[in-house]
Amino acid sequence: MIFAVKPLTNIRTLTLWLVLFCPVATWIGWQEHAERYERFFQSTSIAQRMLSQKVVQHEAVLATLAALEHPPSPEQLLLSLQPAMPQLQGLGYLRDGTWVGSSASPPGMLAAVEQARQVGRPVTLALDQSRYWLVSPSNWSLLLDARLLIAAADFPPTLGTLTLDVGAEPLTLLARQSAVGSMGWDMSLQKTLGALSQPFPVHSWYRLTPSDWPWTEWLAWALASYLLAASSAAWRHSRAEARRRQEEMRLAAMTRLNTLGEMAAGIAHELNQPLTAILAQVRAAERLLDDEEERPAVRQALLASAGQARRAADIISRMRELVQPSAPSPRVAVDPDALAASLLFLRERELTRRGIRLSWRNASPGASPLGDRVALEQILHNLVQNAADALADVPPPRSIALSGGCDGAGYQFSVSDNGPGIPGEALPRLFEPFYTTRAQGMGLGLALCETLAGAMDGRLTADNLDPVGACFTLHLPLAGADV
Ligand code: ADP
Repeated sequence: MIFAVKPLTNIRTLTLWLVLFCPVATWIGWQEHAERYERFFQSTSIAQRMLSQKVVQHEAVLATLAALEHPPSPEQLLLSLQPAMPQLQGLGYLRDGTWVGSSASPPGMLAAVEQARQVGRPVTLALDQSRYWLVSPSNWSLLLDARLLIAAADFPPTLGTLTLDVGAEPLTLLARQSAVGSMGWDMSLQKTLGALSQPFPVHSWYRLTPSDWPWTEWLAWALASYLLAASSAAWRHSRAEARRRQEEMRLAAMTRLNTLGEMAAGIAHELNQPLTAILAQVRAAERLLDDEEERPAVRQALLASAGQARRAADIISRMRELVQPSAPSPRVAVDPDALAASLLFLRERELTRRGIRLSWRNASPGASPLGDRVALEQILHNLVQNAADALADVPPPRSIALSGGCDGAGYQFSVSDNGPGIPGEALPRLFEPFYTTRAQGMGLGLALCETLAGAMDGRLTADNLDPVGACFTLHLPLAGADV
C-alpha cells in the first residue's frame, strides 16, 4: 500500500516524530561520545607510554655511567649523549663529596644522593616546572628538561591538551585546543609515567565541541523518523477515512430502514381506518341479509364498504406517489360540497354510534379550492378521526364541525371539535413525525397531512378554541368562484 506523505501538521504527528527521534538521537549521540572517549583513552595511553619509554631511558643511562671505571669528562659525555637525548641539559657526579659536572650542582644534591641510596634507586630533584635532576645512588646525576622529551608533533593527533607535573606547577606539553572560549563537553584522564624513579602525573583533556557532534547521523535519522511519523499519520488518516465511510454506509442503511419503517407505519395507520369500516359494514350487511325488508340497508352498507375499499386503494397509490413522485400531483378545482358529502356518508354512521355529531357548513357556496381530491379526502378524514379520538372521554354533547370558505385569495377547510383542546406544550410539536400524546397513537397522522398539504401548495395550522376545543385549518389556493 502506498501512503501519501503528509506534512507534520498536527500535534499527534509531531509528538510521534519526537518520540521516534529523541531516544534514537540520544543513542546515536551516546555511541559517538563512547567512540570518541575510546579514541581519546587510546591516544592518552599512547602518549603516556611514549613519555614513559623516554624517562626509563634515563635510568638506563645512569646505570651505564655508574658502570664506567674511567669515565670521560662530563662535558664530553654531554656532547656525545645530547644528539640522541635532546632533553639532557647537563650531567655530573660527586667524588669524595666534591661535585664534578658540566653545570653547577643545585642545592640539596648531597641530601638527594643520600635519599637515593636509602631507597636503592634514582630520585628526582625539581629545579622549576620543566627541569629536574635525576640523582642516582651511584653518585651520577642527569639534568633533564621535560619540555624536550617528545616533540609536540609526535603526539597522537586526537589529543587536545597534555600536561606533566614535574615541579610545583603543571608543564604544558601539548595545547592543540584552547581551553577557554569554546563551549562543549570535556573528557579528561590522568595517568602516571611508568618509571619508578620519575612517576610524574600526566593529565590529558579533550573538549568535544559542536563540530564533533554526529550531525550527519542525526539529520539522516531526523529525516527517516519524519518519513515514518508522516507515513503512520497518513495510514491512520486513511484508516479513519475508511471507518468514517463504513459508518456513513451503516447510517445510510439505517436511514433507509427507518424510512421503510416510517412508511410501513404510515400505511398501516392510514389503512386501519377504512379497513375497520369495511369490516363493520360487511358484518352489518351479513346480519341484515336474511331480512327481505332490510335490502336497502344491505345495499347501503355494501356501497359504503366499496367506498372505503376505494379509499384504501387510493391511499396506497398516493403513498407510492409520495415516496416516488412520478408526475406532479393532479391539481384540480375540487367541489367542497361533494367532498364533504362523501366524508359525511362514510363517517356519519360510525360517529353517531359513538355519540358524536358531524356537521358541514359551506360559508362560500360556489368557491372551490385548488387541490388533489384524494389527498384532500385523506387530510379531512385524518382531522375528523383525530377530533373523534379527542372526544372519546368528553361528556355529551360531542360535536365535530367541518366548514369551508374563502379566505382572501385562498380557500380554507376547518375541522373543529368541542374536546379538551391541545395541551400548550404539544402545540409547537404537533406536526413532528411520531409526536403523540395518545397511548395507542403513532404520531404520523398530522405529519402526513402536513406533507400532503405542502404538496398542494397548502398548509395546515392548529389552534385551541375558546372556551373549549381544538380547530385545525387547511389553507389552500383558490380555484375560482364557479366550478
Ligand atoms: P396520533 O393521532 O397517532 O397521536 P397525530 O399526528 O394524528 O398522531 O396527532 C398528534 C397529536 O396531536 C395527538 O397525539 C394529540 O395529542 C394531538 N391532537 C391531534 N388532534 C387533536 C384534537 N382534535 N384535539 C386535541 N389534540 C389533538
